[in-house]
Amino acid sequence: MADDPFENMLAQMDRAKAFADVDHGVFERLKHPERTLKVTLPVELESGEVEVFEGFRCQFDGARGPFKGGVRYHPTVSQREVEALAGWMTWKAALVDLPYGGAKGGVICEPKDLTERDLERLTRRYTEGIRRMIGPDVDVPAPDMNTNPQTMAWMMDTYSMYEGYTVPKVVTGKPLEIGGTPGRVEATGRGVSLITQKLFEYLERDLTDASIAIQGFGNVGSNAARLLDDAGARIVATSDVTGAAYDPDGLDVGALAAHVEAGGMIEEYTAGEARAEAPGGSSGDDADLVSNEELLTLDVDVLIPAAVEGVITADNVDDLRASAIVEAANGPTTVAADEVLTERDVPVVPDILANAGGIIVSYLEWVQNSQEFSWPLETVNVELERRIGSAFDETIERYDEGSVPDLRTAAYTLALERTASAHEYRGLFP
Ligand code: GLU
Repeated sequence: MADDPFENMLAQMDRAKAFADVDHGVFERLKHPERTLKVTLPVELESGEVEVFEGFRCQFDGARGPFKGGVRYHPTVSQREVEALAGWMTWKAALVDLPYGGAKGGVICEPKDLTERDLERLTRRYTEGIRRMIGPDVDVPAPDMNTNPQTMAWMMDTYSMYEGYTVPKVVTGKPLEIGGTPGRVEATGRGVSLITQKLFEYLERDLTDASIAIQGFGNVGSNAARLLDDAGARIVATSDVTGAAYDPDGLDVGALAAHVEAGGMIEEYTAGEARAEAPGGSSGDDADLVSNEELLTLDVDVLIPAAVEGVITADNVDDLRASAIVEAANGPTTVAADEVLTERDVPVVPDILANAGGIIVSYLEWVQNSQEFSWPLETVNVELERRIGSAFDETIERYDEGSVPDLRTAAYTLALERTASAHEYRGLFP
């Protein structure tokens, strides 16, 4: 089960069902994605060769509004994974009370092996493939793993070419120059940092000098690391595919970020040379290289998985020593591991709450596009904090009522009830 994210998503729903006020028939409907399109994408690469890629777009549930969710480029993308991620987007949008349903897209590819031109062609061909399915008020893609504002610009351009006019609202996470919003790139990381701070307030613990390990130093992990470092926490470990940098005294997040932005890998960073060369690299950062698996089991105050799904499982949960977990990745914990963590009273802030900063600021971008108006960064950040903060408070309130066993179940009951209630008001067509 740990290997199948869709089964894991269903098991999470089942776990919450007993505590949620949801009609059985509606609940059964919510277990099935509305539709999934699979597209074949032949692309002429810069090398002259034609490679045939496979892509998906799943629209999981649209009762609460237009579909919304990112597009990921990764070798392990599959239909089941995209469907699970689309389900999680549905619960996330409902939990943070955005007027959206959930969707997700993905292309099976290894972006590291593709040139910039290859990526542009692949993106345009994928957009053409799913063009009949998306639209500014129908289904609105956004960045996810290995996609970014440039990817969204190509998607927006391709969609607009077919429409015959510019449609900024068809995607979010765009560059500022073409209708993006300030604050979107760092939004998920900012949300993770805000949620970690809220968790510490709730637990009546001080975040100053709290030790944090972050698995993954991509867009989400690196922004969360920077903002938590600014908030006074000590980032003791973070990782990429080559391994994890670990320093119990705290990493120099700025030096590490500069190294990674320049294209460097963690393995080289810990080897020392890169550290001396990086701006601020002579700061005395003295990190060791440990494995990603070791990072997960470090004795820290907070563990933040910010990479792929299914990393905290029945196999390693007994070795985990973190006193709290904040899920920046989608689906990092399997249900079997969850049960053990609940038993051990380790608070786990679930993905659908902890990483909702991205979709919240996507919504704010979409609203600005509708208004044909742009807000300053401060307005965006205030609104992000208000929305993610009140979703946290509502989740805690449900948990403190005492009937649900953990924070994930609290969040799921709220999300399922909201989605089910939309279905009940709308009724069953025809
Ligand atoms: N891909 C992000 C997520 O998993 C953001 C999706 C969006 O902004 O629509 O939440």
